[in-house]
Amino acid sequence: MRDLSRLTDEQLLDLRFCDLSLRIEGTHLEQRIDQLYEELNERGLRFKPHIWLSQEWFTPDNVPGFAIPFFLAHPRLARLERKQMLEVEGGSSQDCLRIMRHETGHAIDNAFYLHGRQRYRELFGSFASRYPDWYKPQPHSRDYVLHLPAWYAQAHPAEDFAETFAVWARPGSRWRTRYRDWPALRKLEYVDKVMSELKATPRANKSRDRVEDLSDIRTTLREHYSRKREHYSLQWPPDYDRDLKRIFSSDPNYTSRPSAAGFLVRHRRALCHEIAEGTGVHQYAIDQMLSQMINRCKVLKLRVSLTREHTRQKVLISLTVQTMNGIHTGYHRIAL
Ligand SMILES: [Zn+2]
Repeated sequence: MRDLSRLTDEQLLDLRFCDLSLRIEGTHLEQRIDQLYEELNERGLRFKPHIWLSQEWFTPDNVPGFAIPFFLAHPRLARLERKQMLEVEGGSSQDCLRIMRHETGHAIDNAFYLHGRQRYRELFGSFASRYPDWYKPQPHSRDYVLHLPAWYAQAHPAEDFAETFAVWARPGSRWRTRYRDWPALRKLEYVDKVMSELKATPRANKSRDRVEDLSDIRTTLREHYSRKREHYSLQWPPDYDRDLKRIFSSDPNYTSRPSAAGFLVRHRRALCHEIAEGTGVHQYAIDQMLSQMINRCKVLKLRVSLTREHTRQKVLISLTVQTMNGIHTGYHRIAL
């Protein structure tokens, strides 16, 4: 087997997915999957989704299993992902399990055709409805549970179910207390009832399909990343100048103060991370906005005029607003 850790980024990018010869067995992913299976056991479920490697996280239509992205199967590839995309989705053990619980929700939905049930439709809506290009979450809504970032349960009925399942399945989940006064409690109670009913039922959908298995993919990593970066770019023409002039100053009185561009460069990583956490938007998209802002700061010759903390706070708010505007005009994250 090829030793990936000895290859440079350029050499890695030239490889095709099918040439990576990656396996789940023997990696730390295997332990995380065992942990997921153990959690399901503890919940009394005999159902275990089958899991394979592909390019991204996803559960295919009608398949009672899900794909995990290749970069989680080798530390060298996780490093490449971080360099290309600035974040590694599911990179920590905690995040990985969080996403796996969500995918298991889709997989068990498919395994037992739960979305065909009338009560499912009443509570979550129609599974067959089209995925929106974007959704406008209501942060204060108590009709939906909170699990993945960005109020993801609000994106689509299938996501709502998967998120509700994930909250129910999490070990130590005190969902009855946590959601006591929430209308979302009805959804959790429904999941609880259905799951106890499924304990003894063999699954109806026995498919073991591995859609887009890594070994079948002939594109190179370079082609993949070029498409992925394109996909995660925000496609709208923002005008940062007004915001920037409100935060920074071009007044000659401030020429001895640090430059605005330098300030943004120093806080770049932390800002990206914080806004990605709050909005659910990929760090790559936020970083792109920041890089355009930095260019504008240079052109406008702006300098820091407020305290560091105050400036940081104002930048955070402005970038968050810009990010949310971006989501609502043509950005969507791949539906998990
Ligand atoms: Zn999903």
